[in-house]
Amino acid sequence: MEMTFGKYKGKTIKEVYRRNPSYFSWMKDNGMSNKPEYQEFIVTIPYEHPERFEWEVDIRSEYQCWKCKNIMNIFLMFNPEIENELRSGYPIISDLAYNKPKSLIPFAKEYGVHLEERYSKVTQSMYVMHICPHCKMHQGDNYVVEDNEQKTDLVRRMRIVFDNGIWREIR
Ligand SMILES: [Zn+2]
Repeated sequence: MEMTFGKYKGKTIKEVYRRNPSYFSWMKDNGMSNKPEYQEFIVTIPYEHPERFEWEVDIRSEYQCWKCKNIMNIFLMFNPEIENELRSGYPIISDLAYNKPKSLIPFAKEYGVHLEERYSKVTQSMYVMHICPHCKMHQGDNYVVEDNEQKTDLVRRMRIVFDNGIWREIR
């Protein structure tokens, strides 16, 4: 999609973000968040540059490992700018499937969630996924992040940002 107005008219959303990342904050601050250009921005760019955006995180308990059947905590991420009706019941659809940055590994650990980069036969690639703390088996994002059909309990909800090389909670 190309911009239809303003000083970047004719440029793609990606190109505008590359040239001037704060342009979209400016749009939002000036009441233009309902424009299709802004809507396109929020559903694409945060997924390509997750460390440059704020995310909401739900830590949920009672997730059952497919291998050993013990329960574990999971770390689900949501784009705060997008309304998600499939966040609280089940199934749960969360964001950044197959696409979590490695910088989240030490942060999730602080909340008792073991993430690790492992090879997936499903995607035939390496990505950061949940690891069962009991049997160390990985749990694919297709079951945990993309389409989670288990009944789990919300333990904690927070907003996070990547700042000076580490993720931290915004209070
Ligand atoms: Zn297990």
